[in-house]
Amino acid sequence: MEPTHHCNKCKQPIIFAYSENGVRFPLDPSSDPKGTFIFHAQIQPDGRTRRVAVGLTKHERIKAAAEGELLFLSHRATCAGTRKPGGGVPMPPHVRAEMNAKISAAKAQK
Ligand SMILES: [Zn+2]
Repeated sequence: MEPTHHCNKCKQPIIFAYSENGVRFPLDPSSDPKGTFIFHAQIQPDGRTRRVAVGLTKHERIKAAAEGELLFLSHRATCAGTRKPGGGVPMPPHVRAEMNAKISAAKAQK
């Protein structure tokens, strides 16, 4: 898939597609066996073609992969410039020490 844009967070090439709800979102341009989206071309009322990325369930993915369909990952799942949910940046030691000192001071006042 030809990349059309670059992510402004991690600078990697991305392609935009529309979700089934019409929301535009970025995907990685190279297919990935772990991908969860397939592309469909959707003809608009004005005759133009819109690229629609359809999210698949686990079983649909297995079927699509078996049929040789290319699977794609949402760029949000791979972007190095976005903090992953549940992950995140560890707290720097000096911030933690400062926070612990404030907590201790607050406890001591009780
Ligand atoms: Zn990115």
